[in-house]
Amino acid sequence: MTDTKNTRVGFIGLGIMGRSMAGHILAAGHPLWVYNRSREKAAETLAAGATWCDTPAAVAAQSEVVITMVGNPSDVEQVWLGADGVLAGARDALLIDMTTSSPELARRLAAEAAQRACRALDAPVSGGEVGARDAKLSIMVGGAQDAFDAALPLLQLMGANIVRQGEAGAGQHTKMCNQIVIASTIMGVCEGLAYGKAAGLDLPTVLKSIGAGAAGGFQLSVMGGKIIEGDFAPGFFIEHFVKDLGIALAEAQRMQLDLPALALARKLYTGLVDQGHSRLGTQALFKHYEARS
Ligand code: NAP
Repeated sequence: MTDTKNTRVGFIGLGIMGRSMAGHILAAGHPLWVYNRSREKAAETLAAGATWCDTPAAVAAQSEVVITMVGNPSDVEQVWLGADGVLAGARDALLIDMTTSSPELARRLAAEAAQRACRALDAPVSGGEVGARDAKLSIMVGGAQDAFDAALPLLQLMGANIVRQGEAGAGQHTKMCNQIVIASTIMGVCEGLAYGKAAGLDLPTVLKSIGAGAAGGFQLSVMGGKIIEGDFAPGFFIEHFVKDLGIALAEAQRMQLDLPALALARKLYTGLVDQGHSRLGTQALFKHYEARS
């Protein structure tokens, strides 16, 4: 179904990530119907040829495939299950939620979709703003194999690494593994740089050495580089990371798993939210260490 150039696609959520992802689908030649809470965020996508709809239901009524990329699980619930939601308008459609959301909600949405003769996938992503812009996202998918196979050509327009992890909810669980790894990694990056600064080292020169060694990786090179430049603008909002850490901790608790570094990361990031930094990027964790140096 989705390997042609004229699959009718709907896209809801045109923020930092969604705008680029929707752009790739349009650029590949698919007709695109869009909705976003604030219409002004849709301007770029509309200028590129997409058609505006006034509700998620109206998007779904036009589309064979609907993709959602909103903020929080509560946004996903509203967009899918609300009176004017996707499920109210969808007919025999393939519905893909790419928001980072809860595994439990993903399973619920899959069941609700099946009751309306639709198929659903949870397909959260990793790779950040740059990965979305360059269509290099890692996409982790939960849902039935046939739905995955149908979605794959569209997902390949947005990502470079697309893996089915299991049934509904498995994509979101995998994304939680990703966020748990990042939580400890970004704390390590901040602590290493805080130490280097206190020791009087030149941090760009430190990065030249340690970025090329066993400590190297995305968080150190990209986020570490931004920290050194004093650039705390959001690629990934702190408020979204706190949301993810909360989901991961709740799931860990449910599985009776003690993850102390994850709990510490949530405590530190919640402290930044309390100080009014929720709309800065996750690299602004460095402010916590700066305040104590
Ligand atoms: P964002 O810039 O806040 O984009 C979310 C968009 O969804 C916003 O434009 C927002 O509308 C819209 N939206 C939210 N609730 C809505 C609703 N109820 N109805 C219609 N539209 C709604 O966030 P983002 O950075 O693109 O992230 C999107 C998701 O991807 C989040 O779950 C995030 O955790 C995840 N993620 C982000 C990154 C990253 O690096 N940024 C990486 C991987 C995953 P408004 O314009 O009105 O706010």
